[in-house]
Amino acid sequence: MNIHEYQAKAILAEFGVPVPRGALALSVDEAVAAAQTLDTSVWVVKAQIHAGGRGKAGGVRVCKSLDEVREAAGALLDSVLVTKQTGDAGKQVNRLYVEEGLDIAREFYLSLLVDRETEKIAFVASPAGGMDIEEVAEKSPDKILTLSIAADHVSDDESHAIASFLGLEGAQIKACAELLSELHSTFCQKDAAMLELNPLILTGTGDLLALDAKFVADDNALYRHPEIMDLRDVDEEDPREIEASRFGLNYIALDGHIGCMVNGAGLAMATMDIIQLKGDKPANFLDVGGGVTVDTVCEAFKLLFSDAHVKAVLVNIFGGIVRCDVIARGLLEAIKTHPMNVPVVMRLVGTNEQEGRKLVKDAGLDVRWAEDLDQAAEFAVAAAGER
Ligand code: ADP
Ligand code: MG
Repeated sequence: MNIHEYQAKAILAEFGVPVPRGALALSVDEAVAAAQTLDTSVWVVKAQIHAGGRGKAGGVRVCKSLDEVREAAGALLDSVLVTKQTGDAGKQVNRLYVEEGLDIAREFYLSLLVDRETEKIAFVASPAGGMDIEEVAEKSPDKILTLSIAADHVSDDESHAIASFLGLEGAQIKACAELLSELHSTFCQKDAAMLELNPLILTGTGDLLALDAKFVADDNALYRHPEIMDLRDVDEEDPREIEASRFGLNYIALDGHIGCMVNGAGLAMATMDIIQLKGDKPANFLDVGGGVTVDTVCEAFKLLFSDAHVKAVLVNIFGGIVRCDVIARGLLEAIKTHPMNVPVVMRLVGTNEQEGRKLVKDAGLDVRWAEDLDQAAEFAVAAAGER
């Protein structure tokens, strides 16, 4: 789960990480009032959306007066911000964060993540901060240091290695060590999946601060963190994914045309691959899981049939624990309220296969049957192409 920058900064501040002073604003008046509470002559008005790249897209505005704050807030609130990370549709700005403007001497990149190879928490650091880190990784990989933390805390040697890689000197090295230790505690205690400061800055007066903050919670540990659950902003999420999560479906919205209904994550991945191979793209990843009921299958079909992106549906079920008749019954249930408005291709194999096929045939549904996955993908891509 993602949270907003201002929420991530509040969590960091709890752990002692230095962050700029700032306040949340939901209206233009609130933005001006927020600016007045900050003892500064330069403000930065920042659009709060669950995506980076705001600076380049005009979502981060430096203001030299309260009038400018008013103007920036008015321009940003309710506008749709299209950044490198939002996709073409962009994201509507509903919240602003008004911050003190800081004097930036240097910008660094610093993040923490779970390194699956070493099975440790790793820091990724770069003196080339404030930029697209993927671009830095591609063009100048020597500017990136990845360091796995050996124990359950950051050692002196480890923090020294990171600080000197960033080119810090003197008292800044100690400040950096403290910061790294605080970030590590935040990451562990809050069960983060990713924590990113881009940029971490050094100010003109030599202070280190987290100028931007991205916190991604580990969804599997959210049950331990009701305080993070409370930060969820459903306006930032895909409505299709919200609907799917209500029924416990493993669903991820994508931008292709073929709606997929599959059991098992591996088979779902293979299904997406083969759709791509046949020349189209999946509209979603959907693993109905093992313990499916008629109700969940029904909800999954409704989700696919009501998705305007979907031009054909590909059902690929390899019935083991999942029974093919349950899938068929779910489809029959769904079409009571959501007509089958797109071609449906079915590949049903395994437990109760014949019963499943019979149910669909007896209902007189215009379903195209495929004998294997290859054929199923071919049929689905062709059917979508005709529409
Ligand atoms: P994004 O990553 O979405 O573009 P950032 O929070 O990283 O947003 O801001 C983009 C840039 O705007 C920063 O790299 C920095 O140069 C500038 N900036 C952001 N916040 C401040 C601030 N409080 N004071 C001064 N400059 C800022
Ligand atoms: Mg940033």
